[in-house]
Amino acid sequence: MSLIERSRQAVWHPCSQMKQHETQPLLAVDRAEGVWLYDTEGKRYLDGISSWWVNLFGHGHPHIKAALKQQIDQLAHVMLAGCTHAPVVELSERLGALTGLGHAFYASDGASATEIALKMSAHYWRNLGRAEKSRFIGLQHGYHGETVGALSVTDIPLFREAYGPLVRVSATVPSPDARLAAPGVSAIEHARHCAQALQAYLEVHHAEIAALIVEPLVQCAAGIAVHDPEYLRLARTLCDRYEVHLVADEIAVGFGRTGSLFAHQQAGIRPDFICLSKGLTGGTMALSTVLTTDTVYDAFYDDRTARGFLHSHSYTGNPLACRAALATLEIFEQEDWMARNRATAARLTALCEPLATHAQVRATRQLGMLWAFDVATDDPTFARRYHAAALKQGLLLRPIGNTLYFMPPYVIDESESRSLAEGALAALEETLA
Ligand SMILES: *Cc1c(COP(=O)(O)O)cnc(C)c1O
Repeated sequence: MSLIERSRQAVWHPCSQMKQHETQPLLAVDRAEGVWLYDTEGKRYLDGISSWWVNLFGHGHPHIKAALKQQIDQLAHVMLAGCTHAPVVELSERLGALTGLGHAFYASDGASATEIALKMSAHYWRNLGRAEKSRFIGLQHGYHGETVGALSVTDIPLFREAYGPLVRVSATVPSPDARLAAPGVSAIEHARHCAQALQAYLEVHHAEIAALIVEPLVQCAAGIAVHDPEYLRLARTLCDRYEVHLVADEIAVGFGRTGSLFAHQQAGIRPDFICLSKGLTGGTMALSTVLTTDTVYDAFYDDRTARGFLHSHSYTGNPLACRAALATLEIFEQEDWMARNRATAARLTALCEPLATHAQVRATRQLGMLWAFDVATDDPTFARRYHAAALKQGLLLRPIGNTLYFMPPYVIDESESRSLAEGALAALEETLA
């Protein structure tokens, strides 16, 4: 039996209707290097979405590999309750220095980071004697992960529908997504209107609200929905005024994806919590963290055990994962990646001109190392059919609904950019034919 067939039998793949794999074969990846994935037959595919947005500097980066090899010989894992180790301490110090949020709590995936931020926020208010502040606000079309708590702030019906009875759904306020602006309304005006809606909600409900959670600048899972940084500035002001935490979910947009190391920095604000994962280890190990302020930390610091944050995961602060994250930060220090990415992005944007001007493409947008194109089609199978057509072109791409997007590793060079832009257009023509 082939690896693909054995996988269909034994592995329940994520975010998939397994029956569709009767006709759409899995991609059996044998190895990867740089932007390329190699299948078991030796055919290569350009990883145009950085393996679900996690990869930054290409697969098999020598600096991260060397760090992991050294670390595995020294210490692969030790529990973090009652123990500590150099990788977790150094990583926490560095993340604190980069964000101004000096207390790092760890888990292994993004959804757990969301859970932690929500629990910490509500527990903070409880420790202050304001236990009634236990509800949350999320944005329309927001995505913060798929565990039951994270689903409570995830406004994507397809992911939530089946679990309705399990989820304590949070309030949803209008999305500043620039595409949702009324005709003639600019992105910044739309952001202001949405902030007014947030204000109206907070005015009535602030007494029971612990936190507002947002994906700064880009709601990726919503279809690379970009908003004006003005929204974040106004949200920060409103959160201060109404005593509500601001949680920045930078799981997808952190680590340079939007053109600054962290997306919220483009608005010049400081959140109360920052959730990080995905690019944190450069796409090598499962790790997430929630960073928070002295104010939040101090509210838990007490003689009474129950006032502590009694949350844990077995692999919290795993040394291998922390070492991979440190190696990733070291790569950022080796050169000015934001400047290099601006040049890389300008090159790919120019190569995308035929795609951007295609008769059936709308709302082209680009920010940092992110590109998105909405395809005018009513075909509900567009994403699946496009994915298959792209594979034929040697590209791994997975549109979100009718939004085709690129989120390539930062190391993508000129000829690889050309392969991506030209292959994506050819796949579009095949899909629409
Ligand atoms: C991917 C993602 C998550 C969830 O992370 P997982 O590791 O998949 O659980 C949460 N928030 C955002 C913005 C994401 O993109």
